[in-house]
Amino acid sequence: MRKSTWLAAALIALGGFSVGAAGPAPAPLEAQQVSVFPAGVENPYGQYFTGQSYLQMLVTKDVPIGNVTFAPGCRNNWHIHHRSKQILLVTGGRGYYQEWGKAPQELLPGDVVEVPPETKHWHGAAPDSWFSHLSVEVAGEGASNEWCEPVSEEQYSQVK
Ligand code: MN
Repeated sequence: MRKSTWLAAALIALGGFSVGAAGPAPAPLEAQQVSVFPAGVENPYGQYFTGQSYLQMLVTKDVPIGNVTFAPGCRNNWHIHHRSKQILLVTGGRGYYQEWGKAPQELLPGDVVEVPPETKHWHGAAPDSWFSHLSVEVAGEGASNEWCEPVSEEQYSQVK
C-alpha cells in the first residue's frame, strides 16, 4: 500500500515536471516589437541557426508562410531550397541576404527578396539590430531544404 502510494506520487511529480517543460519558450518582448506579426516561440529549426531566432507559422496549408524573427547577430546557416522558391518579405529591423559567391545585401522593411530554387544562401539580422521577415514557400513536387555549414564569423564580418 505504502509502495503504491509512493509510486503514484512519483508519477504525478514526473507528469507535472514534463508538462511544465513541454513546448518551446515564447519570444521575448523585443522580438514581439519588431513586426506587426506575432513572433511566436523559439525556432524549432534553431539547430540550423547561429544565435537566437523565433518562428510563428501564419499559413500552414498550400503556400506556407512563416514569420521569422532574428535577434541581433542571428543568421541561419547557408542553405538551399530544392525545388522550392522562397520569397522574403521584410517586415522589421535591419538584416541581410547573401547568395554564395555574391556580396551581402542589406534588407530593410518593405524589401522583397526572391530566392530562386537551388541557390545557396543565408539570411539574418545585422549585428546591432533585431530583424524580421515573412518567409513564403512556393514549393514544387518533392521540395526539400538542404542545410549546409554555418555562416562563419569571417563571412558574417562583411556585414555592418
Ligand atoms: Mn532561405
